[in-house]
Amino acid sequence: MAKPDKFAIGVDLGGTNIKIGIVSEKGKLVKSVSVKTEADSGPKKVIANIIKGVEVILEKNKFKIQGIGIGCPGVVSTKKGIVESAPNLPGWKNVKLGPIIKNKFAYKVHLENDANAAAIGELIFGAGKKIDSFVMVTLGTGVGGGIVFNKKIFRGEFGAAGEIGHISIDVNGPKCNCGSTGCIEAYAGNSYLKEKIRSELKDYPDSKVWKMIENDLTKVSPRIIQAASEKKDNYANFVIERMGNQLGVALASLSNLLDISTFIIGGGVAGFGKPLLDSVRLTISARVLLPLRSRVLVIPAKLKNEAGIKGASSLVFYNN
Ligand SMILES: [Zn+2]
Repeated sequence: MAKPDKFAIGVDLGGTNIKIGIVSEKGKLVKSVSVKTEADSGPKKVIANIIKGVEVILEKNKFKIQGIGIGCPGVVSTKKGIVESAPNLPGWKNVKLGPIIKNKFAYKVHLENDANAAAIGELIFGAGKKIDSFVMVTLGTGVGGGIVFNKKIFRGEFGAAGEIGHISIDVNGPKCNCGSTGCIEAYAGNSYLKEKIRSELKDYPDSKVWKMIENDLTKVSPRIIQAASEKKDNYANFVIERMGNQLGVALASLSNLLDISTFIIGGGVAGFGKPLLDSVRLTISARVLLPLRSRVLVIPAKLKNEAGIKGASSLVFYNN
């Protein structure tokens, strides 16, 4: 008889929704639920919502649960299970999320920064399964990252490593939310990207994008740019290529610094697909120091829509 699968609960704590699921050891999502975060009501309410969601997912549970993994934005102490600070969650300062959830459900709880959880998800279930060292880049509202070296996540001194989004590529570049200038997030982050497109689209009156947004600039989105690019729109291709170039400049520095040559690109904006990955790869190859050049590998993330839940659940299967 085949050995029955082991399962883990993954909690993806986002600013708007908390997504909770049961995932098998092999990375299969077997059950999921989404509850509102209600972040503005503060940590107590958010934690109550997490507990409510986990209770719902455990109703009539027939799976062999090994533990609960939580992916959380911000700076996290994985050892203590404490969320030290989370910029998108008002009031979160040294919140003992791990111990609270552990006391409630009597499962082992693993807490991790969400970008690191995404990297571990790719390591355990996804594109990084057969790769020892890689950098995971998540393109979404912000630009997040996680560094995996010899199958281990690199957390840095205080657990805040991997903030790839705030590598600056231009001292005179656009102002970033973090207070610096020219951060890669200020080019490739969703809202910055949309704003840039809105301001420059008028210089491209022939672009197919105009028709796709019905001349309404509020409808500009990465998805529209992707669709226009698939229709071979010159402006959309230019936007994607430029973004790949900007990302590539930042990642080449990382490659030189870390001697890691594999980059896994995920997140919503990664939907730009091959044209983006090609542009990133070409730029890194052209800029990284010569000995690293032939090894540069830029590949898409494998965990797509459920990357958050799967990344969080992978923490339970990740041998720390
Ligand atoms: Zn920044």
